[in-house]
Amino acid sequence: MEPAAVPHHVPLDAPLAAVRDRVARACAAAGRRPQDVTLLLASKAQTTATTREALEADARARAADPSLRPVLLGESKVQELVAKAPELVDLSPAWHVIGPLQSNKVNAALRWASCVESVASLDLARRLSTRASGRATPLDVMLQVNVSGEPTKQGVTPQDAAPLAVAVGALEGLRLVGFMTIGARSDDDRVVGEGYDLLRTIRDEVVSSGAPGTASASGLSMGMSGDLELAIACGATMVRVGTAVFGSRPAVAGR
Ligand SMILES: *Cc1c(COP(=O)(O)O)cnc(C)c1O
Repeated sequence: MEPAAVPHHVPLDAPLAAVRDRVARACAAAGRRPQDVTLLLASKAQTTATTREALEADARARAADPSLRPVLLGESKVQELVAKAPELVDLSPAWHVIGPLQSNKVNAALRWASCVESVASLDLARRLSTRASGRATPLDVMLQVNVSGEPTKQGVTPQDAAPLAVAVGALEGLRLVGFMTIGARSDDDRVVGEGYDLLRTIRDEVVSSGAPGTASASGLSMGMSGDLELAIACGATMVRVGTAVFGSRPAVAGR
């Protein structure tokens, strides 16, 4: 007897639509417009084929509703970025780096990424500035801030964030577009929300400082599959979603 035809993958249209719906509802609840929150898909540990399926599902959704803006893709590891990006150029996605960037990977990252969200030191910002200075368009960067203070998390301390932002804003070749954080590892919305509020306060302080290159720093990349509603209530302008669209990640890749 022939075995039943078991699909080896599940189309991503439904989970992507569900996430868009969550974003829209959270925006409505917060009195915000859904187009003010960008959806970034965290494609780490997903194959190129699966990442392509997500982009194609997004294209179908946008064909049905032209008011939607394309999703962005985020990679935590530059190796994955350089492996996938060349295979997906026909779909011309915008790639963001959302994980730690070693200095020996800066050139590879800049070849494909339009934004590095994980800038957490002046040293890295200067390296990016040097490499990006020759480009026609500046490289977008965000400062990653460790709002929870958890030792396992990357990011500049909240105290150092504003001075670093002012220093980065002055660098050539870069455009500071905002701040990124990974929420506290807690089930308590108040604890996580305090961290998101802190990031927004830092953003407000920097944008209103009047320092050169800081007026553009209004972005807030915060919120993931488990807490995007909370982050949107706290002012997120970008949510980074992995498992809610792709399902669970292959265990080997880890974080
Ligand atoms: C993996 C990852 C995400 C997405 O996490 P999910 O819980 O799968 O939505 C967001 N941001 C960063 C920096 C990540 O590494």
